[in-house]
Amino acid sequence: MTKQNTPIRSICVYCGSQPGRDAAHIQAGRTLGKSIADHGLRLVYGGGTRGIMGAVASGVLAAGGEVTGIIPEFLMDKEATRHSLGQLNELVVTVDMHERKHTMFERSDAFVALPGGIGTLEEIVEIMTWAQLGRHRKPMVFGNINSFWNPMLELLQHMRDQGFVHTAHLVQPLVIERAEDIVPAILDSAAAIGREGETEIISKL
Ligand code: AMP
Repeated sequence: MTKQNTPIRSICVYCGSQPGRDAAHIQAGRTLGKSIADHGLRLVYGGGTRGIMGAVASGVLAAGGEVTGIIPEFLMDKEATRHSLGQLNELVVTVDMHERKHTMFERSDAFVALPGGIGTLEEIVEIMTWAQLGRHRKPMVFGNINSFWNPMLELLQHMRDQGFVHTAHLVQPLVIERAEDIVPAILDSAAAIGREGETEIISKL
């Protein structure tokens, strides 16, 4: 597939550094990776070579796509992944986690959370926080493979119901059940945001 006329050039994927217990999650990682490559987009991710992270990256690379890994120095040493990281098209080594998360944010046009653990949760929540504060309007997706994120989605609804989510219209992550539907949903969402932007401009004229 060729590059489309879209503001989306790169997609950041947050996901488990572990494989998890449900084989569907690794499969979803590979499928999403292939889909990113097939749409001519770049993967931005945390640079890990194991678990779901490894599956997404290898899915992109196997389909001939481009991968940027962004990893803090201390994780490279801990994981001894220097060799495998050599397969990535681009590797950005950051001083610490703060710089890493900021670089991932700046380098990405959309964000996806696949199943993962505390690190994944922290990353997608931070992106939602920045959306809530009006710092960006980049699409955000929960890849809800086998309903993995349902407890999180219930918590978010509970927070809304209890009146704790301010500017709720700015925090509307997409919830997508199948890995192959994630990239098309992001492209549709970005197009809709673009059209809204045009409407805003027209109404100000
Ligand atoms: P977790 O869900 O706790 O496994 O954390 C996964 C998220 O944290 C990923 O999106 C990464 O950005 C980061 N992360 C955790 N472990 C690693 C690792 N070994 N290598 C690179 N990034 C990691």
